[in-house]
Order: sequence, then structure tokens, then C-alpha cells
Amino acid sequence: MCTYYNLMMFPYPSAEGLHVGNVYAFVGSDIHGRFQRMWGHDVFEPIGFDSFGIHSENFAIKKGTHPKEQTAKNIKHFTEQLKQLGALFDWDRAVITSEPEYYKWTQWLFLQLYKAGLAYKGKAPVDWCPSCKTVLADEQVIEGKCERCDSVVLQKDLEQWFLRITKYADRLLKNLETIDWSEKTKIAQRNWIGRTEGTSITFKIENSKEEIKAFTTRADTLYGATFLVLAPEHPLIASVTSKGIQEYVEAAKRKTELERRAEEKEKTGVFTGFYAINPLNKEKIPVWVADYALMGYGTGALFGDAHDERDVEFARKYTIPLKATVITGDKKQDQKILSLEQCFTEYGILVDSGPFTGMTSREAMKKVTEWLTEKGLGESKVTYHLRDWLISRQRYWGPPIPVIYCRKCRESTKHKTQSTNKSQNTKHKSQTEDRYGIDYVVINGVEYAIVLVPEKDLPVRLPKVKDFRPTGTGKSPLASVSSFMKTKCPVCKGSAQRETDVSDTFLDSAWYFLRYPCTEYANKPFDKKRIKKWLPVSMYIGGHEHAVLHLLYTRFITMALEDMGYIEFGEPFKKFRAHGLITKEGTKMSKSRGNVVNPDEYFVKYGADTVRTYLMFLGPMAEGGDWPDKGIVGVYRFFNRLWTLVAKPSLATAKLGLASELASELVNEVLRHKTIKKVTEDLENLRYNTAIAALMEYFNALQRSDKATREQINTLLILLSPFAPHLTEELWGKLGNKGSIHNQPWPKYNPRILKEEQLRLVVQVNGRVREVLSVARGISEKEAVALALQQEKIKKWFPSGKPKNVVFIKGRLLNLVSY
Ligand SMILES: [Zn+2]
Ligand SMILES: [Zn+2]
Repeated sequence: MCTYYNLMMFPYPSAEGLHVGNVYAFVGSDIHGRFQRMWGHDVFEPIGFDSFGIHSENFAIKKGTHPKEQTAKNIKHFTEQLKQLGALFDWDRAVITSEPEYYKWTQWLFLQLYKAGLAYKGKAPVDWCPSCKTVLADEQVIEGKCERCDSVVLQKDLEQWFLRITKYADRLLKNLETIDWSEKTKIAQRNWIGRTEGTSITFKIENSKEEIKAFTTRADTLYGATFLVLAPEHPLIASVTSKGIQEYVEAAKRKTELERRAEEKEKTGVFTGFYAINPLNKEKIPVWVADYALMGYGTGALFGDAHDERDVEFARKYTIPLKATVITGDKKQDQKILSLEQCFTEYGILVDSGPFTGMTSREAMKKVTEWLTEKGLGESKVTYHLRDWLISRQRYWGPPIPVIYCRKCRESTKHKTQSTNKSQNTKHKSQTEDRYGIDYVVINGVEYAIVLVPEKDLPVRLPKVKDFRPTGTGKSPLASVSSFMKTKCPVCKGSAQRETDVSDTFLDSAWYFLRYPCTEYANKPFDKKRIKKWLPVSMYIGGHEHAVLHLLYTRFITMALEDMGYIEFGEPFKKFRAHGLITKEGTKMSKSRGNVVNPDEYFVKYGADTVRTYLMFLGPMAEGGDWPDKGIVGVYRFFNRLWTLVAKPSLATAKLGLASELASELVNEVLRHKTIKKVTEDLENLRYNTAIAALMEYFNALQRSDKATREQINTLLILLSPFAPHLTEELWGKLGNKGSIHNQPWPKYNPRILKEEQLRLVVQVNGRVREVLSVARGISEKEAVALALQQEKIKKWFPSGKPKNVVFIKGRLLNLVSY
């Protein structure tokens, strides 16, 4: 039997419990799993809890409880709620990320990443959430605001742990072509990775040995560059001591990235006093510092010219001369553009550009780059928007990063380290085999070797402390727990100190799907053979909001584990489908809006099957729907009518025997096959709403005809069972069927029957026409005889119930002989 790993993003167990939006996602995934199971797959449908993280901690702070106790309580409540969904979850393999048995392996993962050169400690300007009192990953900042609490983030220079996801930028991008994912999620990842081809240009500074590297996608406009702009964070600026400049830089650093990037914002800047040389025409151009240049993009330096709106705006404000060097080629417009009344930003023809004059923009970009490369003044360069993944958090509720800092080891190995100049943007560089004591950090001016906690000493347990509140000082609360912080160096046995930051929750969830099939292994994170049997995940369902967070991180970690030889695939999820959201009266459900619908009362009032089916009836899985309370009654009534029809004692008796089945309306039979086809296709494509509509229509036809056969009703129950597992199981038994409905194979439809239309069958008795019946084209002789004998006008000729002789001309005529 083929295995099928049916995965749904595991929940963060909030104190509020599940809301209908969560239920929607779980049910949608469960229906898919149930369908795959009946289809013949060996389905694995696990569940767990993403229980570390700031959310849990913040709630505990608010309530005055400890996160450990609060989390246990939340998980208990979630478990109760999840159990009433009627999902196939394999509870024996539940994973809880805040348990030491799990985070031991999250720490192990960190060690492997470090050993592979994919984890490093580096100082960089990072995003700081003043409300969460911690740094955030790039991906957790949405339009300049904290993804969790919506606070505007600030920039801080801090030494942090990063994972080198940028090393995988190209693979993350290219592999997107090979996986079956929701298109909008792929687009979001492509944009976030943000691959840009351009040119890196070296500007020499007049009377100085310093150089500035600028990045541009428009090398064709370089001839017309009339100034250079540096970001306030640019390393060169730090060496400029002028008071005016330092004041400007300080002010800029207080602004958020969002403020700085705002299009409508008036550009500001200060002249640095020095000049750079345009490598193309050797002209001297002034160097400015301006906050519209951002350090995180390109190189933190750009040249200004007449073909970029922001540059033109800036130049006009500070009366910096501009020179148009690209024109449209359209005579009437040329005049206008050359007078710089409007900014021409498109590709065109070069003018006043020395040897490049007359070229098209595309040609010139190539030629200018070649020219610069030849002279050693530039090169073509690919940049990415993607930055390394910042995983340090100055919080309590997470796995301690398993690193120890040792002064003695640093002293004794100092001679091994060649270069010690760690500039702002160069991260760690020593890639020696023996890493103990080679990589180092500087704490309060003192150098310490980075020593990994040996694997045998894992987990580094999170100590239970009374005061776990974030400090806001840039240090985790663990920094003030001396019993935790002070430790012995595993290499030199001297006294040393622990890293006190914990890692981001997203690292916990970056590998949990590998743990699920392997929870019984205490001595390894996962078993290679077991992993091979179940992974990669066959179907992953979850929220699109994780497109560039969780879904990017999991891909990176999977690729890294493949490269390290732990697993044999690089993409964790063969198929991913983003589910839609359930709204309340058109608006997104959120606690702050106070419109969160708690499913519990609906479970009590209508039962899980009604809640499940109603949610799926709201709209296609990918789109979600709106939750108006009254709609649920319709589904509830449908189930009640179904119950009445099937549970009628008459139906459970022999009346539903073979004879009556054959006598049944063949119209129903055609509809049965049609319904199987429709529901099967809809379930494959997560169009649950239209599948339910088809089942309702089929039910109505059966009810109207009053001649439903056992098989027709069984088919209805089986097709409905992924939606309503409890009700259908009950009715299955009532009909006298053996075993569980959930172990039945998925019904197959007969394409032949679907193709057939009804035809008129002439029924003769002893050669005389007595009746004309409407039947399916493919009706067999046996079926036709049985059907004919049910008719009043025919029946009376055969008191024995059996004709003496039969002549059947397929598709046209049936002659029954009574003597
Ligand atoms: Zn925040
Ligand atoms: Zn040591």
C-alpha cells in the first residue's frame, strides 16, 4: 500500500482555544486524509503543538502564570477541542515543541547547522520590537511593523545568531518550479527571495584610498551620474566626524525602514564633504548621505542620475545638477526630457554618453558592465532581497541556543585565527575543520571562543525561573540567572558562560514534520528508514500567511539536512495548498476585534459532523468563507432528513434485496455514478463545497423516488463519510452493513453508464405492446425483465412471477411470453 503523509500546519496552543478558523483548516485537511485513505493509501495524519514562543509567554505574563503551566493548560484544552473534530489524528505521535524530548533535537539541529557553516554569530543592524522586547527576523517585519503585535520596529546594532539561508537563495528559487504548490505562495517566495541582476561599480574617492561600491540595475545611466548617495549606516560614514553628519545619521537611525522608504516622504540628506570619481567619464561627483538609501538593499550606496524619480527629487531639493543621458527616440518628447521637466525612467537610446552614445539601454548595460569589468572597476552582480535568518530571541520561552563562550579557549587558540577585523557586514569567516575555539565573539571588549555544547549534553534545559519577563536591555532574562549562565567549558573544563538567548519558534517548526513519524526514537531526531517510508510530505495544508516564514524556513532546513546527508530529499512538501480564511460578517476574525467565533457551543448544539460539513459548505477550501450563524441550520436539517430516510426500519429490512434493487429507478443509478464522479473530482481538488452540494442533490433524488436501493444509499453514506464521519458510521450499521464505513473502498463510477442516455424500451407480452419504459441505454436483459415485471400492466400476465420465454433485442424491444 502506498503511504500518504497528510500534514496540516500544527497549531500554536493559544489560551483562547481553537476558533472556527482553525477548525476550518483542520477539517479541510482531515477530509483530504479520509478521502486518500478510502482511496487505498496508508495515511499518516499527525498532530502536535507549536508551543514555544512569544505568544504563550505574553499571555502568561498577562495572567501572572508561568509559561510552562500556562502552556500545559492550553494544550489540554486544545486536545479536548481537537478530539471532538472527529479527525483521524494519530495522537500517539503528538509532538510538543516545548518539551525537552523535542527541543533537544532542535538544539541538535542548530549544532549541525553550525558545523556545516550555516550558523554564525554576527553583528548587524537588526529589527527590534520595542513591545516584544526582542529582535525579529526579517520575515517577521511586515511593512515596518512587528508581525505579532503590530508595533513599529526600530533598528539596533546587536550581535546575533543567524542561519545562512542566503546560501540557498538560488536553490530555493529554482526548486519552486519542481513543486506542486499554491501559485500565490510560490509568487510570494519568489518576490521575497528577490533575485536581481545588475552591476556592482567601484567609485574611487578623491584624495583617499577608500572606495565605494554601488549597485545598480541601470548601468546604462552611469555616464550621467552626477552624485553618489550613501545610507546613514554605510561603514564609511562612521569615519566621518563632522557633527552635522553624525546628527543626521543618528536621526535617520531613529526612523523606521517604513518611514524611510515611504514614496511621498520628502527626501533629506547631507553633503559629506568628499567627492568620488565616476569611473566611466572620470568626472568628480559629490558624495551625500541620505536616508532614502538603505543598507539592507544592494550595498548601501547608489549613484544619482536623471533617470530615477527619487534621485531627481533629491537633486532638485539640493540643487545638484542633473544630466539626461537616455532619451525615448521620440523627437517631440526628447526636448522635454532633456530639459528635465519630467523624469524619464524607461529604457531608451543613450545620448551624451561618450563611446556608449547611440546604444539602446539594454546594449549599454551590457557594454558598460563589460567596460568596467575589463578595467577592474566593476562587475555584473546578482543581489537578493533575502537576508540571513536571524534566530536569536531575547526572550525566555524557547530552546536555549546550545553554545558556550570560553575566554580561556580563545586565549589558547588565538594564534590560529588569521584575521580579526570583523566589519559590520562581514559575518564569520573561519571555516576550519576543528571549530572549537576558532570562532569567537567579543563581549564587553573581551574575546571568547565559541564552544558548542557537546551532543551528549543535550538538551540544554530551559531553567524554570520566576522572573521570565523580557528585560528590554537586548539581553534575555536568562542572562540574570547565574546558575544557568555560569558553566564549565566542555573543552578546557575552565569556567565559561552560556549563550542566554533562545532560538526563534520558527526553528522549532522548521523540522517538526520529520519528528512525527519518529517520535519513539529517544537517541536520534529521526530515523532514516522511517523518513524514507513517509517523506516527503504528500500533502501539506496551511495558511498562506506563512509563505515567506515557515514555508521558506522548512525548505531551507530540508535542503541543509539533505546536503549534510541526513535525509534524501531537498523539498519537504510535494504538494502545498493554502487554505482560505473564515471571516465573520466579512471581516477577519481576531481577538482584538472581538469577533472570534468559538466552535464549542456549535459542537454541543449541532454535533461535529454538522460543524465540519457546514464549514466546508461555505466556499472552496482555497477561498474560505463567511460564518453567519444561521447557515448552519440548513446542513443540520439535511442530516436530520438523511437520518429519517435511512434509519426508517423498512429500509433496513429485506425489502432492499436484489429484486427491488433491480426494479429501482435506473435514473437513480445514472445519478449515483454521476455523483461519484463529481464528488471524487471535487475532493481531489479541495472543492468541498460543490461536493456537498452534489451529495445533497443526490440525496434529494433518492428521497423523492422512494425507490432507493441499498447500494445507492450506501454510496451516499460512503461519499459523505469524510465530511460526517460519525453520522455515516451510525447509519452504515443501521443498514445492517458489516464493519466500519471508514474501511470501505472509495466507490468507483462507471464511465459507460455516464455516457448512456435514457432510451425507450418497448415491452411486449406475447407479441403485443403493453408498455413503453424509459431505461438506461446499457440495460441488461435480466435488469429489463425485472423492471418490466414490476409494472402493473405487465405483472398481471404473469401470476407465477416468471415468463416462460424472453426475447430481448438490446436497446429496443423486450418480448415476454406467458405460455
Ligand atoms: Zn512585537
Ligand atoms: Zn574552554
